Amino acid sequence: MTTTTTGMSAQDGAVAPPQNRQGTLPDRQRLERAMASFVQDFGVTAALYMESCVHCGQCAEACHYYVQTGDPKYTPIWKIEPFKQAYKRQMGPLSPLYRLFRLKKPVTVGELEKWQELIYDSCTLCGRCTLVCPMGIDIPSLVLAARHGMQEAGLVPHDLWEPTDRAEREGSPLGATKQVLKERIAWLSDDNNVKIPLDLEQADILVTVSSIEIMKYPQSLVALAKVMNHVGASWTFCSDGYEATNFSMLSGDRKGQHDATMLLINAALAVKAKTVILPECGHAYQAFRWAGANVYGKPLPFRALHISEYLAEEIRAGRLTLKSDPRSMTFHDPCQVARRGGVSGAPREIFKALGADLHEMSSTPAANWCCGGGGGVVTIHRADSLRHRVFHLKMQQVEDTGADILVSSCSNCRLTFDDGQAFFHWDKTAHSLLELVADNLAQRH
Ligand code: SF4
Ligand code: SF4
Repeated sequence: MTTTTTGMSAQDGAVAPPQNRQGTLPDRQRLERAMASFVQDFGVTAALYMESCVHCGQCAEACHYYVQTGDPKYTPIWKIEPFKQAYKRQMGPLSPLYRLFRLKKPVTVGELEKWQELIYDSCTLCGRCTLVCPMGIDIPSLVLAARHGMQEAGLVPHDLWEPTDRAEREGSPLGATKQVLKERIAWLSDDNNVKIPLDLEQADILVTVSSIEIMKYPQSLVALAKVMNHVGASWTFCSDGYEATNFSMLSGDRKGQHDATMLLINAALAVKAKTVILPECGHAYQAFRWAGANVYGKPLPFRALHISEYLAEEIRAGRLTLKSDPRSMTFHDPCQVARRGGVSGAPREIFKALGADLHEMSSTPAANWCCGGGGGVVTIHRADSLRHRVFHLKMQQVEDTGADILVSSCSNCRLTFDDGQAFFHWDKTAHSLLELVADNLAQRH
């Protein structure tokens, strides 16, 4: 756990250490920037959301952080409250009165730093709270609004800021640069005797990838190629637009989010793609499928599908034929794909085509417990012990199914499961749905 200069731990809510500040701006300017951003975001939709909260407390029991700690500060709507109060005091319509009568204390940068934990370390943007809120308050969007202000002020946790900065400089948060992609593709193609098209001038399908797959699970790329070749697709990777993991969105950097999205859009337009396939990465799906058109300013001129949607579509069309794999399995629905994205039927069509013995988890796919690593949380090391506490909830949900094999369709979830497996000496490994499909392709006659 990180210790601050005051001797208190960051998880105790103390002032964050200096490395969790970016740049050299004086505090006054940091505050101005944060507040200007809060005005932009909280001043419209978010303010309406905040005012409509009836304080019923139902979101508390939906949040894995509150459930596992019982700490009221992890009640979803309360994670946003300090930011709302800061906005009201500094910039809201009644701010002159608040200040005149000293009804609210001035906000300090130290307080903003202290609140980092609420919106970065203890929110995976999983949306489970929104599911139960009787007022339909979209808390993850409020958390993102607060993150925008923190990013503007240069107050992002260093562990999340670093890969974001790297992505903006090099095109990938984990060092999967254009050159690395080219080398990986050449190596994987040779080693596995599989054709992986790169930079074709034209293709019906542009495939994208998560840097977690390139760097940690390269067999995912081989699996993707095997499937695409099996169905006879016209497809390509594009070295000018391949990285779908949008770390800027997670940090709260609107410009970086825009630029990362436009790289993919421009690559798709350049190859005249009719479809863009998003990889096994929940936030990539969210950033492109649902936020992509906002960035583009109009509807995307092609389809954007999560890889599991594409696989199910190909099964339905009779082009993707699979061998039977009747093993006992359970499926972890990634929050951004199932709950936030609405894609829960496609993976089940795939399990059915495999003839798998699917053991569903105790909740519906939309109410599935989060793995605890989304929203950039898995990168923030000072949050590890809290993350492991919430992972335990997920681990129990998997164990309760009694299934032998755990499968998911998000490489970030997989990374989180790998970490949790090592930490708890658990006997379950999370497998990729795409790789499972590729391992069971029926022979072509
Ligand atoms: S989005 Fe998920 S992690 Fe964040 S407050 Fe809601 S339930 Fe908790
Ligand atoms: S469930 Fe909705 S209305 Fe109830 S406390 Fe939470 S945010 Fe407010």
